[in-house]
Amino acid sequence: MTHHTLKIVALAGGVGGAKLADGLARILPPDNLTIIVNTGDDFEHWGLKICPDLDTVCYTLAGLANPETGWGRAEETWQVFENMRQNGGADWFRIGDKDVATHLERTRRLKEGQPLSQVTRDFCRAWGIQPTVLPMTDQSVATIVDTVEQGELAFQEYFVHKRCEPTVKGFRFDGIEQAEPAPGVLQAIREADAVVFCPSNPWVSVDPILNITRIRTALAGKPVAAVSPIIGGKTVKGPAAKMFSELGIEPSALAVARHYGESISGFVLDAVDAHLADKIQELGIRPLVVNTLMKTTSDRQLLAQDVLHLIERVTA
Ligand code: GDP
Ligand code: CA
Repeated sequence: MTHHTLKIVALAGGVGGAKLADGLARILPPDNLTIIVNTGDDFEHWGLKICPDLDTVCYTLAGLANPETGWGRAEETWQVFENMRQNGGADWFRIGDKDVATHLERTRRLKEGQPLSQVTRDFCRAWGIQPTVLPMTDQSVATIVDTVEQGELAFQEYFVHKRCEPTVKGFRFDGIEQAEPAPGVLQAIREADAVVFCPSNPWVSVDPILNITRIRTALAGKPVAAVSPIIGGKTVKGPAAKMFSELGIEPSALAVARHYGESISGFVLDAVDAHLADKIQELGIRPLVVNTLMKTTSDRQLLAQDVLHLIERVTA
């Protein structure tokens, strides 16, 4: 089977997810790629509905993302933010002028009763994004981080306001029991030859998606390849390694593979972690050791190729 006949569903959070999704989008025909995005980070700020992971994925696929920050828009200006601050408005979450237009229009449409999946589809069309991007659900799900010092914190409170400093005890996804997969999600999984877990935070980016019962059920028995977000025991960005440590697990690519366990059949780990490949094999998971650090567009594309090669092997 050549790559171009593979139909792929990718599960993604923000930064790490968006980069691999972009690599996959560069080598697969648009009809063969559906990206299902975490919405557990979504929250309200300045009276606007913000969907950080959806926006990071869409801005990245559209070539509109800020490459330095990993969030927000390139060539951003901050007039609204500075004036909000002068007005005494909340200034712990930065929203640029270009970005704010996204949240204004999304909030207006949601208030009109349009589902998030439809708003996302319209934005994708407006921004020239060809693969299908779907929120995991149209209902609201809120990731809650339980911490030693401050008890339960709403995700962005923990992530942005407290800069991930409190010690993590656990996670809860409020509303997950009632959450149905967004329209198109189950069909995409059913039609997919394989599923990719992008190198996103396992605890707070991929797990919320997997905790929607009907998504988890649909994934059972599908070939799944995950890419490690942990390289040499560290994250490229964000708190995933810190979360593993605070939960009493030594952070490593192996810990990520164990975390996903029986839900994956293949696992991509970085060359610096090559010594862990045998242990992953012992888990009954097929390892692939390659460069997984995506610094350039070409890195994204090469990693996407590697993931598809692994999928061919696990599905052969
Ligand atoms: P967030 O929602 O913006 O926090 O983003 P994700 O959950 O999608 O991604 C966060 C994870 O991406 C972190 O654990 C990073 O280590 C990982 N990550 C970021 N860039 C890369 C990369 O180039 N390669 C790999 N393997 N992981 C990456
Ligand atoms: Ca996120």
